[in-house]
Amino acid sequence: MTWRFSLRTRLIMNRLIITAFFLASAAPALSQQSTASLPPPVLVDPNVAALRDDALEGDHYAWDVVEGLTTEVGQRLAATDAEARAREWGVQKLKTMGFSNVHIEPFTMPVWTRGAESAEIVSPFPQKLAVAALGYSGSTSPAGVTGEIVYFDSVDALRAAPDSAVKGRIVFIDHHMMPAQDGSGYGQFGAPRRQGPTIASRKGALAIVIRSIGTDHHRNPHTGVQYFTDGATPIPAGALAVPDAEQLVRILKRGKPVTMHLTLVSQRSEGARSGNVIAEVPGRDPKAPVILIGGHLDSWDLATGAIDDASGVAITTAAARHIMDAGRPLRTIRIVWFGAEEPGGLGGKAYAEAHGKEPHAIAAESDFGADRIWRFSSQLMKTDPPTYAQLTAALAPLGITKNDNGDADGTDVEPTVAAGAPWISLNQDGTRYFDWHHTPDDTLDKIDPAQLRQNVAAWTAMLAILSGGIESGPKQLKRR
Ligand SMILES: [Zn+2]
Repeated sequence: MTWRFSLRTRLIMNRLIITAFFLASAAPALSQQSTASLPPPVLVDPNVAALRDDALEGDHYAWDVVEGLTTEVGQRLAATDAEARAREWGVQKLKTMGFSNVHIEPFTMPVWTRGAESAEIVSPFPQKLAVAALGYSGSTSPAGVTGEIVYFDSVDALRAAPDSAVKGRIVFIDHHMMPAQDGSGYGQFGAPRRQGPTIASRKGALAIVIRSIGTDHHRNPHTGVQYFTDGATPIPAGALAVPDAEQLVRILKRGKPVTMHLTLVSQRSEGARSGNVIAEVPGRDPKAPVILIGGHLDSWDLATGAIDDASGVAITTAAARHIMDAGRPLRTIRIVWFGAEEPGGLGGKAYAEAHGKEPHAIAAESDFGADRIWRFSSQLMKTDPPTYAQLTAALAPLGITKNDNGDADGTDVEPTVAAGAPWISLNQDGTRYFDWHHTPDDTLDKIDPAQLRQNVAAWTAMLAILSGGIESGPKQLKRR
């Protein structure tokens, strides 16, 4: 026999059970523990809260930067004329916004540019597939190459294959990346792109195509960098759009040999110029360690790089501007719009070479889109618990949780962190990020202005806490 209670009866019973449990367990503990032994409450400085809430409500600086940069410069491939125009745009913008010490720190690097590209199945079912070359791919002739496809479900399967299975063929590597809030699939499933071309080349492959490292089902291939290492000869290396990779898998499953014609023309030349754009909010104490923040100015060439990473430079610059609006911080805030992140973090390395030995109070980068920040982590948890508690309290009203097990984030600040700078990571929600990352779809319309403002509010609160105190003086005129 089964006793059946009405929903209302069950709710009342549950409440009674919970109340009884609380009285039995919690009440004795409370009576034994005086309030003096509880940790002191952490209250948010009202000035910090006001700055944060103003940014959340009304920031327009970030939108101005991201809209302006993506509209007036557009795509900004590293070490090209377009990236140089972006640097000039940045210098003008940062000066107009009232920042100090605005300048470019140049460096040289090889430049790679894309030419004509296409992929088609020749047999058994002739049809075109959507493809894009990976950065620093080898080039085919304009006539392209034709070869039989050899399938691998992972980069390790390719690694384990005998050379004879690969030689003279076009390698295809599949994978199964899924969306995740923390973007954690990118590390593992990015291996076909990062390592696949070198392994395929060393086994004598004619070329390689991978399933795009992405989580969407649009016919947009995802490009991205790869390097030929270990003396591997550059071979043509491309990414198929996810639906096209799935189409190729279905064709392969029919069991007949599959032949592909692949054209991936590209150019590479040495000694091209890139650079970092640097600006500062001067601190009251020029000797105090600086706060380093920023994002990367370059983008891939397939789109305007709104989420990767015009939004990052916009968010961090806007936050610094909000501090400047409030007065003068004790510490200098240094904003860096890093050049040439996409080809391998060259701007970050150049910055660390020039400035890595200077004392830094913190290093932080925004380079994961423009969706809301959902959690943060920092080395300060161990080195400065009271400040970590302040940050936790100030960020909580924005829906941001602390992550006691997090890591330093951001390719560009990595070398500076490796040189000893403490770090903080404000992690954005990456659920949608790999739908658009490195595709023709990385455009301004993907940015939600409300979530962008939440980012600015979080960075503003972080800067306000770490700046060492802001002395309100004659405020700067608000300039757009
Ligand atoms: Zn990026």
